Amino acid sequence: MAFAAQYEMTIGGEPRPGALQFDVVNPATGAVFARAPSCGLEELDGVVAAARAAFPGWRDTPWEVRGAALVQLGGAIRAHLEPLMRLLTAEQGKPHAEAEGELLKAAEWLDAVATLRLPSSGDAAAPGRSSWSRHVPLGVVGAIAPWNYPVALAVWKIAPALLAGNTVVLKPSPYTPLTTLRIGELARGIFPPGVLNVISGTDALGPWMTAADGIDKISFTGSTHTGRAVMAGAAPTLKRLTLELGGNDAAIVMPDVDVGAVAERLFWAAFRNAGQVCIASKRLFIHDAIYDDLAGRLAELARAVRVGDGARQGVQMGPVQNAAQYRRLTALLAETRASNARLLAGEVPTPGEGYFMAPVLVDNPSDEARVVCEEQFGPIVPLLRFRSADEAIARANQGPYGLGASIWCADPDKAERMAAKLEAGSIWINEPPQTSPHRPFGGHKQSGLGVENGLMGLMAYTNVQTVSSGSL
Ligand code: NAD
Repeated sequence: MAFAAQYEMTIGGEPRPGALQFDVVNPATGAVFARAPSCGLEELDGVVAAARAAFPGWRDTPWEVRGAALVQLGGAIRAHLEPLMRLLTAEQGKPHAEAEGELLKAAEWLDAVATLRLPSSGDAAAPGRSSWSRHVPLGVVGAIAPWNYPVALAVWKIAPALLAGNTVVLKPSPYTPLTTLRIGELARGIFPPGVLNVISGTDALGPWMTAADGIDKISFTGSTHTGRAVMAGAAPTLKRLTLELGGNDAAIVMPDVDVGAVAERLFWAAFRNAGQVCIASKRLFIHDAIYDDLAGRLAELARAVRVGDGARQGVQMGPVQNAAQYRRLTALLAETRASNARLLAGEVPTPGEGYFMAPVLVDNPSDEARVVCEEQFGPIVPLLRFRSADEAIARANQGPYGLGASIWCADPDKAERMAAKLEAGSIWINEPPQTSPHRPFGGHKQSGLGVENGLMGLMAYTNVQTVSSGSL
């Protein structure tokens, strides 16, 4: 299938160019390279009506047929991998290999989610009476995605929501709407009209969705700050919520590791996608005994990274995704420099029109420094010296976030004892942060509410219904 010349929304199975459009910038050049449709408030009413109208039919469609449609969408993504990869790099900035990896992950997720089945339970409540409980779909789900993994994180929402029998209104970030709009185009031939609607718009659209009467649930991934606004916006209509929010993950590196073997894995745990990963290692706690050795190796790796336009061959790290985030990061870097913190790498500004930043490593700043206690969400990472496991755990647990944490330690029993004391939704031992379609993923504390993925993630797109049956 050839894509349309314009970027269009998918509403009720039809292409919609939108009455207005907004600009989409390539972060590697800082220049506008496309325009995306801007969904207005009245148009949103029509989208929600289309999703509501499609709901009864989709709810009553057999589970296997719904699952097969997900697998078909995964196949369509694979069949259009090359143009989608180029587009994702152009709007998001990540290198082609990473863009391709994100798209393939999305397809893999669609396949894996399609295999899930919801449990039901029942019993004979009393002679002549029975009672059972089952999961039924919620209705219309509003899915709101961020700009760091626009496709993968949208699929985390739409796959379980659709499998469970809901219809969906999907909204990507205004910074990265295009690949998601293309996936809406692919979905037109796969799902009945109104089942999967893909819309795009400016800053007002998310709040309109959270307030909309006809939407039963908001599944949101984004910052903790916006998550609070979503929760407040959803309160008057008591929408169900899943909130996947920010993180400030610690990686704790114990003195018994082979420093040479872990350095590169740790480096990319922190700097993959230019550090713009919710579960990136954002505070590297390194034991005093190996601090100098490991810090030196990380600095060498940082200086060797090829930063540039993700569309160019050999580039390992693309630009920061948008101008606002770039300004936040350059301000954080200036503040860090002004505090006399030593930078182990990243002193040299990266030339170019785009939002480029070389990886920065900050040498043991205070725990109160903003680069430590706030989520930086970019390539500026503090290295923090510690002397005992208990000290590292206490410092790792500081702050409002609780998304993930990793432990690097040669003694697996000790690592597990440490894991039990960490306040985070995911703990990785001797591996970089990663996720699975079969395991629940969610934040503790102010990193989120509820989980995505696995059976628990699927259940989050359902209501429980208990049916009891007596006799006449
Ligand atoms: P963001 O909160 O600025 O935006 C996320 C989405 O929400 C966008 O689509 C945006 O248009 C929309 N939005 C903005 N204001 C809204 C409002 N008031 N009501 C409803 N929707 C609104 O986040 P971002 O900058 O796109 O993404 C970066 C953040 O996302 C980081 O904090 C990162 O840690 C977090 N994140 C979390 C996870 C996770 O799974 N926990 C995954 C990826 C990113």
